[in-house]
Amino acid sequence: MKTIFLVIPCYNEEEVLPETSRRLREKLLSLQESGAISKDSRAVFVDDGSKDKTWKLITALHIKYPDMFDGVKLSRNEGHQNALFAGLMQVKDHCDAAISLDADLQDDINAIDEMVQQFEAGFDIVYGVRSQRETDTAFKRTTARSFYKIMELMGVEVVYDHADYRLMSRRALEGLSEFGEVNLFLRGIVPMIGYPSTKVYYERAARFAGESKYPLKKMLAFAAEGITSLSVKPIRMITGLGVLIFAVSIVMLIYFLIRHLTGHTVAGWTSIVFSVWAIGGLQLLAIGIIGEYIGKIYLETKRRPKYLIDTWLHEDGARTE
Ligand code: UDP
Ligand code: MG
Repeated sequence: MKTIFLVIPCYNEEEVLPETSRRLREKLLSLQESGAISKDSRAVFVDDGSKDKTWKLITALHIKYPDMFDGVKLSRNEGHQNALFAGLMQVKDHCDAAISLDADLQDDINAIDEMVQQFEAGFDIVYGVRSQRETDTAFKRTTARSFYKIMELMGVEVVYDHADYRLMSRRALEGLSEFGEVNLFLRGIVPMIGYPSTKVYYERAARFAGESKYPLKKMLAFAAEGITSLSVKPIRMITGLGVLIFAVSIVMLIYFLIRHLTGHTVAGWTSIVFSVWAIGGLQLLAIGIIGEYIGKIYLETKRRPKYLIDTWLHEDGARTE
């Protein structure tokens, strides 16, 4: 029987935690009773520097059900990806596999049964994939879909319609810990681990309480992070564009020379002004994108920690720094 830990990042989730913990407890109990998972299996809430009562609720849950709920408190808000990573690294030596899921339970927890079965069948990574997303707003759906499309175009390997709902074996978690990057985009890194993987399909529900902690601004930042932290294609595209423009300018040069030699020289005000603007714009764009990568290099060379643990509630409730 395998010990499975559920890792749940939480940012200002006081509205959903009571219901989420009730549903998770039910799920864990039923899985334990049917013998699918061991009695040591549990759910670990990672408080990502919440400003509301989230940590209080987690502490209360841990005190009430010490063998079922653990808590990890980060020193500050580090964002979903870092919070998830922190949770996974914190539990990896205590379980056989960890399943990551969102606090709002938009991802159907009934898929856990099948994830565990696939894990028992020998898969190290089991991706939860949304079979439909009617409950998402049309806006969320379109932006999410275009996001996967752009990632694909940029040469980043991602599993289509898979968010961060997945099971990872201990060995896969060890693998993940070897990735030293500070700019963390788990969806792009996990497929690089390479151990046997499979997919499990489920239907995505609507958030039952509270509102999305991923406003458009965070979503765009997340997409940019995904592309620039995993792909060098934008730089290649700029190089390609540069080559193309250079080729065109050679052709133009020949044309201008012929015009000049045949005495047809006209003051080409329009073309000159146009090219000044066009080239200027392109250069700025190019510098901007290259700057993006230099910024990344700058951050990576600092080797800053991705997160710091403030408190760890585990087993007997002893506080570990
Ligand atoms: N989250 C987090 N830190 C943040 C933002 C979000 O830990 O800075 C967590 C949040 O509590 C939730 C998960 O990330 O468990 C996904 O967020 P949400 O459900 O709001 O995103 P959506 O489903 O709208 O994409
Ligand atoms: Mg959600």
